[in-house]
Amino acid sequence: MDKYEVVIGLEVHLELRTETKIFCPCPTTFGDEPNTHVCPVCLGLPGVLPVLNKRALEFAVLTGLALNCDINSHSKFDRKNYFYPDLPKAYQISQYDFPVAKQGHLSMQTNGETRVIGINRVHLEEDAGKLIHSEDGLYSLVDYNRTGVPLVEIVSEPDIRSAEEARVFLEALKRILLYTRVSDCKMEEGSLRCDANISIRLKGETELGTKTELKNMNSFKAVQKGLEFEVERQIERLERGERIIQETLRWDEGSAETISMRSKEEAHDYRYFPEPDLVPMEIGTQIVEEVKKRLPELPQEKKERFVIQYGLPEYDAEVLTSTREMADFFEDCVKGFPEPKIVSNWVMGEMSRHMNAAGLDFCNNKVLPEHLVEMLEMLQQGRISGKMAKDIFAEMFSSGKKAEQVVAEKGLEQISDQGVLEGIVEEVIKNNPGPVADYRAKKKKALGYLVGQAMKATRGSANPQMVNAILRDKLK
Ligand SMILES: [Zn+2]
Repeated sequence: MDKYEVVIGLEVHLELRTETKIFCPCPTTFGDEPNTHVCPVCLGLPGVLPVLNKRALEFAVLTGLALNCDINSHSKFDRKNYFYPDLPKAYQISQYDFPVAKQGHLSMQTNGETRVIGINRVHLEEDAGKLIHSEDGLYSLVDYNRTGVPLVEIVSEPDIRSAEEARVFLEALKRILLYTRVSDCKMEEGSLRCDANISIRLKGETELGTKTELKNMNSFKAVQKGLEFEVERQIERLERGERIIQETLRWDEGSAETISMRSKEEAHDYRYFPEPDLVPMEIGTQIVEEVKKRLPELPQEKKERFVIQYGLPEYDAEVLTSTREMADFFEDCVKGFPEPKIVSNWVMGEMSRHMNAAGLDFCNNKVLPEHLVEMLEMLQQGRISGKMAKDIFAEMFSSGKKAEQVVAEKGLEQISDQGVLEGIVEEVIKNNPGPVADYRAKKKKALGYLVGQAMKATRGSANPQMVNAILRDKLK
């Protein structure tokens, strides 16, 4: 309703792509047998000491830089008390008052306008294990493989004004994070998870309303749906004169509603205190400068550059820069075949179509940039027709063969030899006296028929433009 303003802040948990856990040398691989990647440190046995994984810290700094944050030169870890069996220490090592990075922002496009969403903080913490509840509800199992996997938590400012904006923010964030390669961002494997804080206030009001926290949304679409539901629910309550209760809610995909889990904790419920087993970190300018060198050109800058450097339409630039791999593929092709729009059409068209159908991406399909370049050159030289190119590409895509090889094996090469085509055309004229007479009687349609006959005689491999020109010439 128009008199209310929606206020949403997001918390995104991201598993970092390190090989080992944050405080011990256990591997972080996903999907192995339960409790096979554990040691005394991540099981929280008495007497053990955590040792910080340097790579996890570098990834957190990189994440902060990609989100335009200030890196805290002084940062430290804290214990967050937490009594669930998925963290056997009964506390989580996290960061409270000195996160790795703070005060950043992310710009995104929505409904044709640029919106800048503040990033409150980026901090490091350890992931919890995974609880598996039995169907009869009689017991629960716990898998500690995930315990101690490094996470960054990215907390936005409450700058998001609708459920749709929340989805757009997450998509833009994921694109940036994938560019930095700090995480695989697989929501279905839990390496990217999102919670939302949401409240409603009257327009013009400056104080925040009572918020609820929404959890358990397994896709960006679910985030949008969950938030839409929660906005409605809160407005209805307010309209009835009821108060909003501060609580944690779970989005239930099946019933498409939010369900209360527990009353929401406040920070003091966690009784944070400095982690005595880890020394505070001094993140010097040298580390920051070194990590900065690893910061790639990010999607927004790349998109703007593609428009200017390659003269591409905004739409093409947007699609091509949607992943770093796609953008690299495009640029590698343009190096060999400097016709950006033609390359763009092929990459966004045939290439993407085949990859989507096969469930592949730019990292694992068999067509390399030089293969596409070779095929485009053959097309440009008229050795193959546009239609043949599509067939050849399909074969290249499925077999990994090069265009030259496919052409040779299938005898697909286009006939562009003037002498050969003249012979074929003469034959067609001789065999089709009726249409020839029609053409000469100014029935232009007859020409199309004759071209068709020449194409048929060569099983589609004659160069149609040349056949057309030779026919006109000979029938003068
Ligand atoms: Zn371990």
